[in-house]
Amino acid sequence: MDFIFSEEEEALRRDVQAFIKEHFTPEVLADFAGGKRGRGFGPRTGPVFEKIAERGWNAIAWPKAYGGQGGNRITQFLVEEEFYRAAQVVIGGGGTGTPAILASGTEAQKQDFVPKAIRREIVFCQGYSEPQCGTDLAGVRCRGIRTGEGAEAHYLVNGQKIYTTNAQVATHIFLLVRSDPESRRHAGLSILLVPMDTPGITIRPLLTIQNEPGGPPGTTYGEERTNEVFFDDVKVPVACLLGDEGDGWAVSQRGLNLDRVGAWRYLISVKRDEDIVNWLKSDDERAAPLRDDEAVRDKVAELWIEGQVCRLMTMRSMTIEQRGSGFSYEGAAEKVWAPEHGVRATEAIAQILGPHAQLLNGSPENVQDGLYAHNLLSAFQSTVNHGSVQVMRDQIARRGLGLPKPRK
Ligand SMILES: Cc1cc2nc3c(=O)[nH]c(=O)nc-3n(C[C@H](O)[C@H](O)[C@H](O)COP(=O)(O)OP(=O)(O)OC[C@H]3O[C@@H](n4cnc5c(N)ncnc54)[C@H](O)[C@@H]3O)c2cc1C
Repeated sequence: MDFIFSEEEEALRRDVQAFIKEHFTPEVLADFAGGKRGRGFGPRTGPVFEKIAERGWNAIAWPKAYGGQGGNRITQFLVEEEFYRAAQVVIGGGGTGTPAILASGTEAQKQDFVPKAIRREIVFCQGYSEPQCGTDLAGVRCRGIRTGEGAEAHYLVNGQKIYTTNAQVATHIFLLVRSDPESRRHAGLSILLVPMDTPGITIRPLLTIQNEPGGPPGTTYGEERTNEVFFDDVKVPVACLLGDEGDGWAVSQRGLNLDRVGAWRYLISVKRDEDIVNWLKSDDERAAPLRDDEAVRDKVAELWIEGQVCRLMTMRSMTIEQRGSGFSYEGAAEKVWAPEHGVRATEAIAQILGPHAQLLNGSPENVQDGLYAHNLLSAFQSTVNHGSVQVMRDQIARRGLGLPKPRK
């Protein structure tokens, strides 16, 4: 096992770092931060995304046949790391839509969606959670019933989704529906790739605890806004079905599992350790006495070690994905370790900084524009969304450790 990147990969890292230094000016970073916070990327981001796409950096590991580079997942990881660290921008790799389409789509869907996703002409939001079901998605009630014959055939969608992050800026929703009204639990579900401009879709904002004031650039996770999305007699072409009708549970699990790994997923948490270490080394006069404190030094060293575990778990998953071997519980394991590390790191940083850690963006006396206070607000939710840590533990017990389902 070799944990060292090749000289070629390190040269690529240097290229990416130089690119970021040249193009990610403070104005561009501010525009990127707007996108990260769900307000939509500002006007200066488009040309930068184009340059990234020209270099092929946002689809290194995706097949050449669909506009990718046909390269290595670990190389993609290296590029993702640099962009997320610099601007919390997710480059390639993740995002439920495209990995799931590559895993379960028809040839026509791959040809149609993937190149457009690489050029960011298509951006997906995720339509899983509903008011009555988040953790237990088998309770999905939103219906998508196949109606009509021949050229008239379509799915008629009625129902509601909740916590749909980025619905207001996405072009498509990756929608889990109950396609068989008689079915129960995991059976009879399907995935539809629905354009957001289809008539009958209504989006209503749902503001989070992070909404006002917004976090400064560098805040990890913690959207300012998610949404409720309502579907009233929405007609969806049958060509939008991903995978087989009724197989939506397996299709969505494959997509979610792939989406749980990626450099940005672990950096959401680990960037917090890196930020506090950089601040402790800074010339802020409050930093000097803290960096001399033995307890503080011990704590940041301990956080760094935990952070390295997050990184190595991610790299292991990338390697499994790259080799095309079965990927079952590894994403779940990362989805426990990284967010819980993020919570531990955030709480430790709050103790290190004392009351200053709680002052938000705009408050006098805050630290780094309130970065740590905003991270504190966002820490807990990352243990719940995208599959809560309790449910992930159960997946590890069953799929990873082979324990049978508990007897009732
Ligand atoms: C900021 C944010 C953004 C989000 N974005 C999206 C999005 O884009 N798309 C989307 O579809 N959803 C999104 N979600 C929703 C998220 O996936 C759900 O909140 C999550 O699945 C939990 O569902 P719930 O809120 O209904 O809580 P519940 O299901 O009620 O769970 C509450 C708590 O109970 C625990 N629990 C529930 N059942 C069990 C069990 N059987 N065993 C042990 N513990 C259990 C859970 O682990 C959790 O801690 C987002 C949520 C947040 C907070």
